[in-house]
Amino acid sequence: SALISRPLWQLAKSAGGMDAPTSAERIQRIRSWYFEAAQLKRAMQIGINLLHQRIGKLNLDAQTDPLTGLHNRRGLTLALDALSAEGHSFAVVALDIDHFKRINDTYGHDVGDEVILHLAQLMTTCSRGADTLCRSGGEEFLMLLPDTNLESAFRVAERLRHCVEQEQMPQVGHITISLGIAVWPIHADSIERVFKLADGALYLAKQNGRNRSEVAELDQDATDLSSPDR
Ligand code: GH3
Ligand code: MG
Ligand code: MG
Repeated sequence: SALISRPLWQLAKSAGGMDAPTSAERIQRIRSWYFEAAQLKRAMQIGINLLHQRIGKLNLDAQTDPLTGLHNRRGLTLALDALSAEGHSFAVVALDIDHFKRINDTYGHDVGDEVILHLAQLMTTCSRGADTLCRSGGEEFLMLLPDTNLESAFRVAERLRHCVEQEQMPQVGHITISLGIAVWPIHADSIERVFKLADGALYLAKQNGRNRSEVAELDQDATDLSSPDR
């Protein structure tokens, strides 16, 4: 009876922690040597796979903007944590659609949403796999470019700006964007401050006529523009 009850006891013990990342391996190791235990083991393995798929999907959903599929702010925070843990520097590009209210007012909110989606797709095709793209608000976006210096980040921003300017948006025609750039840790030691500076540069781009990229002001003692390289 000890031999018969052993796999049942092991399965019952594993049932308590089915959401643990190692639960599948633990159940795999259980020797279910007779039919009933084998069936129970199989049912639990199927259940665990479904559960883990569901948890993975929920985690991904919590980090994703539903309209564009880009990261939301939570996804951005996680990407930032990973970058700083791995010791990467990065450039921040903040961007905002110019005169977007007019687009909504003229064509309606749904068409506005289509424009946002189309812009997100352009951002994706215009960037590298390692870049993090985030929809930070309604028609506002952030790009994190790992190991990218100021010059390269400016080139990336200008390339995207040209790309957007030339694109025929569904129903709306041409739109433009304004962009602001700052680099961590060249512009400031604090990551939060670098985001503020990128936002300030974006504001300056709006002030200076829109459809342009502006780089945040460097502190006088921060002169190392060439490193780290992209
Ligand atoms: P600016 O060039 O100064 O950026 O002008 P703007 O008209 O784009 O001004 P602002 O950025 O302040 O306004 C953004 C507008 O975007 C306000 C809001 O009605 C609209 N908006 C915000 N979120 C969404 C969204 O999810 N979908 C749509 N269609 N519109 C949105
Ligand atoms: Mg805006
Ligand atoms: Mg705008």
